[in-house]
Amino acid sequence: MLTIKHISKQFHKQTVLDNINLEIHQGEIVSILGQSGSGKTTLLNIILGLEEPSEGNLFFKGVDITNVPMEKRPFNIVFQDYALFPNLTAYQNLTYGLKNRKEHSSEEEINELIQLLDLTKHLDKLIHQLSGGQKQRVALGRTLVMKPQILLLDEPLSALDGVIKESIKARIQEIAKKLHLTIIIVTHDPEEALTMSDKIVVLDNGKIAQYSTPIEIMNRASCHFVQEFIINQL
Ligand code: ATP
Repeated sequence: MLTIKHISKQFHKQTVLDNINLEIHQGEIVSILGQSGSGKTTLLNIILGLEEPSEGNLFFKGVDITNVPMEKRPFNIVFQDYALFPNLTAYQNLTYGLKNRKEHSSEEEINELIQLLDLTKHLDKLIHQLSGGQKQRVALGRTLVMKPQILLLDEPLSALDGVIKESIKARIQEIAKKLHLTIIIVTHDPEEALTMSDKIVVLDNGKIAQYSTPIEIMNRASCHFVQEFIINQL
């Protein structure tokens, strides 16, 4: 579904991404996992269209989208800070972007999403009246009503703790399954990546150290870095 071919990125002669090649299939949850500064956000921004690659191409369903601007790509992102409107209600936030979009959920689909995200009781609350987990669910809903074909999540669990973290994790997996949606998640946390994803891209200093399923990574780390960063931390 999404093919990344020979993508590299330099900032002021510093190579931040070095020959990235990936094939992501429909309905998969793929985590981009790496330490701070490894290039995760840069790769996410290139997929989203916020940043141009220095070399290489991106293909979506076989079509070269490298030069397609962000607003024309059928992708959508939930940022780490959720970027919700504090003076609007949960429902107003959910439906805010709809009037400017040709393709979006019907009223029936919006109601289904509200139920899937367990937001029925919170629709009339202002954002500051919501808990962290509820805000994350509104942010997910606002993105999903736009019917993206790929959902990008930037550190979706980092602001949450304990039980709430587990419930959002389960919710994201349910969304991928029910909507057969491709989800790309940026995380620095090996445990999160191992428990949430179908596949993990391990980035080390701008290079792919391993791209495999959690089980493959656990059974056969490709190199010393993967062993140290993921397995020895568990
Ligand atoms: P973190 O987990 O800390 O957010 P990351 O893995 O997401 O890190 P990136 O934000 O992609 O890493 O940054 C990778 C490298 O690229 C870093 O050395 C960073 O300083 C550099 N970098 C990122 N954006 C720019 C920019 N716009 N101009 C110059 N350098 C940049």
